[in-house]
Amino acid sequence: MFQVALYGTGEGGILMRRIIEEAYNEVAGRHQGDRMSVAAWVTDREGSSSVMDGLAVLDIERFRALYSKGLFHGIILPREEFFGMAQPIIRLLHSGVDVRDIYVSKRVTTTEFKEGELLSFFEPYLSAKYLPYLEFHVADHCNLRCKACEHYSGLVTEPHVPEFSCFAKDMQRLQSFIDDIGMIRILGGEPLLNPDINDYMTLTRELYPYAVICVVTNGLRLLEMPEDFFRTMREQRVHVHLSAYPPMRERIPAMEAKLREEGILCITSPVSETFQMNQSLDAAKNSDYFYKCFQSRCHNFYEGKLAICPLPFMTKYFNAYFKQCLPEDGQIDLYDGSLTTEELKIRLLTPLERCRYCRNPVPVEWKQIRKQSVLSDWIEEGKKQ
Ligand code: SF4
Ligand code: SF4
Repeated sequence: MFQVALYGTGEGGILMRRIIEEAYNEVAGRHQGDRMSVAAWVTDREGSSSVMDGLAVLDIERFRALYSKGLFHGIILPREEFFGMAQPIIRLLHSGVDVRDIYVSKRVTTTEFKEGELLSFFEPYLSAKYLPYLEFHVADHCNLRCKACEHYSGLVTEPHVPEFSCFAKDMQRLQSFIDDIGMIRILGGEPLLNPDINDYMTLTRELYPYAVICVVTNGLRLLEMPEDFFRTMREQRVHVHLSAYPPMRERIPAMEAKLREEGILCITSPVSETFQMNQSLDAAKNSDYFYKCFQSRCHNFYEGKLAICPLPFMTKYFNAYFKQCLPEDGQIDLYDGSLTTEELKIRLLTPLERCRYCRNPVPVEWKQIRKQSVLSDWIEEGKKQ
């Protein structure tokens, strides 16, 4: 018997248990495959210790302790629970779980499974053509220019948008490695500065029909957007994430009302009074910051390449503006003929040289860049210069 834990205590996990116990095991038995025994739930909530539906709920640390004693052979992440910026995999790996013991389920799109579908329903994470999260820029520049912007948008001196036909070809290429994504965020910079944004939403939905897709905007242009923008959002089931900053405070209710009227789901973040500054000009000697870095789950797709986070692509703006040479490693070329899905996934789980220049974040007051930017807008030690 193959003893597994299921990640998540929501409906996705509960459904997966039913599929294993009521359908998968019978088919696996008939085909001389291993039956599975679901022995626990695993949750991201530290210190969690309870019981649900007769099974223990373990946090990742307690799961690892039992796994290292051989009490579990693997952990399954149901796609319905494992999407967006949740990144249990990095935590599991950091705690000592072997990546080959991590599995992801297929999406549940039917109630009547064929035998073949069931037998391949649980895939090793590394070979599954699935990513829980992807983001891409449709504009590198921004109309707000916040200091310490994680995408260096305030340092983009000329408007920069992708060429849509190249983007479409690159996205098709990405689809050959990754054919399902949990959540896709269309952002920038400020995405509403791209006049072709409707085309990006339509293409993304066409290639990734099951993804949660949202446009992340500061909203400054939202009320001026033409009717076809809102219609495309509705038709392509795209919602809005309003990242709220102090200059927009008064306008948020009007933006939310407009989106409600247009039938578009909107999530508004609390107004950011502070930003997190986490960059340095000096490389840390021994750093495991990657494993706790919030951005290490923000896989970014840019000009036919993929990276763990936006920094491998966006550091070019910092380097050019301040004549620095921070590393720009970690750009995975999707046109490299030897690349496989497994190699791509391994690289997305491996820290970069660039990571050595990131630190524990320090909160700083949110401010806009006025005309020329200075180093202290981006790095703590810049304040001393
Ligand atoms: S609004 Fe967002 S993208 Fe624009 S500068 Fe601020 S943090 Fe960066
Ligand atoms: S470079 Fe590494 S540590 Fe820095 S933000 Fe990206 S993933 Fe995190």
